[in-house]
Amino acid sequence: MKRAISARNCVCLPLLLGLMVFLAACQSADLRRDTPFWAEDVGDPAARFELAKRTQPELIAFLRRLPKGADLHNHLSGASYGEYVVASALEQGLNYDPARRRFTDRPAGQDGVITGEQLLRDSALLAAYHDVSSMRGWYPAVANGHDHFFASFDHLRSGDRGKAEMLAEVVARNAWQNVTYLELMTSPYPKSVRKAIGAALERFDPGDLEGAWAQVASVLDDPAHAAATAAYLDRIESGADRILRDKHDLRLLGDAPDVVVRYLPQLLRKLSLDRFFVDAVAAMMAIRDEPRVVALNMVQPEDATRSRERFADQMRILDFLSGKLGNPPISLHAGELVLRESPVEPMRDRISRSVTQGQARRIGHGISIAWEDDVVGTLETLRRREVLVEICLSSNEGILGVKGDAHPFMLYRRAGVPVSINTDDEAISRSNLTMEFVLAASRYDLRYADLLELARNSLEYAFMPGDGLYVERDYARLRPGFAKVRDSQWTPSAEARAAMQSDLKLRLQVRLEREIVAFERSLANGFRTTP
Ligand SMILES: [Zn+2]
Repeated sequence: MKRAISARNCVCLPLLLGLMVFLAACQSADLRRDTPFWAEDVGDPAARFELAKRTQPELIAFLRRLPKGADLHNHLSGASYGEYVVASALEQGLNYDPARRRFTDRPAGQDGVITGEQLLRDSALLAAYHDVSSMRGWYPAVANGHDHFFASFDHLRSGDRGKAEMLAEVVARNAWQNVTYLELMTSPYPKSVRKAIGAALERFDPGDLEGAWAQVASVLDDPAHAAATAAYLDRIESGADRILRDKHDLRLLGDAPDVVVRYLPQLLRKLSLDRFFVDAVAAMMAIRDEPRVVALNMVQPEDATRSRERFADQMRILDFLSGKLGNPPISLHAGELVLRESPVEPMRDRISRSVTQGQARRIGHGISIAWEDDVVGTLETLRRREVLVEICLSSNEGILGVKGDAHPFMLYRRAGVPVSINTDDEAISRSNLTMEFVLAASRYDLRYADLLELARNSLEYAFMPGDGLYVERDYARLRPGFAKVRDSQWTPSAEARAAMQSDLKLRLQVRLEREIVAFERSLANGFRTTP
């Protein structure tokens, strides 16, 4: 009998133990289900991030403070929220034309024009302005997001907001989101530079680029242009510093948000080829002469008739001038195309030619990749040349109607092409870099390690000088002297400090790694911003 009982015990005991473990697991799963990601003992940062993925507000709370590195694709004029544009228009004494939904210097009372104060008091008129100057007034069922998006710039621009104000806004917003580096697309030099090149170019024949070059070459040696560009940027940046000190919304960040800003001139792809040539020379000159100007890009809709017709010549001009001006860094919007907006033919080589002929080291959007003639070969070229694709999820959804599985985000990742998360036009999309990370994380089920890779990509593929922290772009291999940078107790040696002093990329990458350490420590300690 005793033996029988003991035999039965042998069977039951493991079952009982198993049941207890199962119940404990259920209880802990239950606990975890009702536990915020910042609670004690809910695991490492990766486990905490899985908890944060349950709802969008939790993701926002987690990702706003995640160190994100850089925003590499950000148009300054599309980053200024309409609310601040209205305030700025009022400060300048502009009036408002409700019929055209634009600010104007025409007198109030004439043709329905009202004062800025009247606009502020009329919530319906104010709402109508914000609707038309951003994507919030776009109704997908009845209107085209592409057209609404490109029209919104004119409404924003009518408020005549200065570059210093826009810069202050963007710097403040990004500092608050743990972004430490921005590459902003804007015109970073005065018109006089472009005019001098244009005046020298008396005849332009797209078939004779050497002839065009010979006409403008002397302008490039005039040191007055480099000085004018430096003074122009100095004025904008010191204006932005002043605004950051004085304006309440922005001052919340403290006196001097620590964000490094660099600039990319934009070539207008719809304009004539001679103007494109002049703009490209001006941009490459600025990159050569001014350290704050780091690369160039091309803007305006890629699907426009003129853009399509001139693309081949534009690539030829970039190729030619790159050879003349020391191969400056280039990032190109390429493949921001869908069948709704474009015939398929331009999509067959738009991305590959932007890289092989247009000398692009980064690609903006790259949505039409799947329509490339040799899609595998193009992806292989991007991977081999280490061309990063700048992903802009909100923008692609609004302008092209592309989201979720229709977006090539995962295709690029599976093909080993580096990508980064960017805003494009955060104010027009009513978004910001945190929100773009939220979309990426929730739509593509990203893991915590993926987030860190995206943040590291943004600094690694930025157009700033320096050797950086990582060996051969392998984030697991740290440069000698920095092997312990991810240890919580690390302090830089004198040599490490000297190396960071002379290498901006290294400095910002070390800062990112240290911010990740601090972020993870905060996660484990209750995630409060004030102790
Ligand atoms: Zn863009």
